[in-house]
Amino acid sequence: MAKILIIEDEAPLAATLAYNIRQEGHEAITAQDGVTGLEAARQGDPDLIVLDLMLPRLDGLEVCRLIRRESDVPIIMLTARSREIDKVVGLEVGADDYVTKPFSMVEMLARIKAALRRSTARDRGDEIVRAGDLEVDTGRHRVTIGGREITLRPREFELLRVLASRRGRVLSRTDLLRRVWGEDEFIDHGTVDKYAED
Ligand code: CA
Repeated sequence: MAKILIIEDEAPLAATLAYNIRQEGHEAITAQDGVTGLEAARQGDPDLIVLDLMLPRLDGLEVCRLIRRESDVPIIMLTARSREIDKVVGLEVGADDYVTKPFSMVEMLARIKAALRRSTARDRGDEIVRAGDLEVDTGRHRVTIGGREITLRPREFELLRVLASRRGRVLSRTDLLRRVWGEDEFIDHGTVDKYAED
């Protein structure tokens, strides 16, 4: 169970979010403006914050920036805007994730779950490799795409971990073999092709 702070000035949306979060077994507290939200973040010691971008008194970006000076609590930014620039700025001031309104509650709960999992893993010192929607949790050997867990065989997991952690870089077949199957093991180079075709 986690304590989740919702900073959102649209009362019906805040109430719906709080209701659904409680249904998941978490505790939900709400604040309706930036100043009150910042106060609640400082005093309430939440495990995660859902933070609206457009807020009265103090806007979401500023709230995010101020919280980040004091804490690494996961923050999911919420906004009606969908321009890419807002997403960039939101992540730049330290938000962990970004959800655009309107959103489905299922989607939102999946993001919350994923952010909580990452933060728990971070506390344990595990490495989380992210590439777009893909997340590889090396400590717990779990892979999720868009918050949904997928099942992989150990070699597949290892291959994915290596590829995801080196996204955008070219890996030679030999390099892949060495990283995934180890130095000593003798393997036909066709092995990599097989996994590439799967
Ligand atoms: Ca708002």
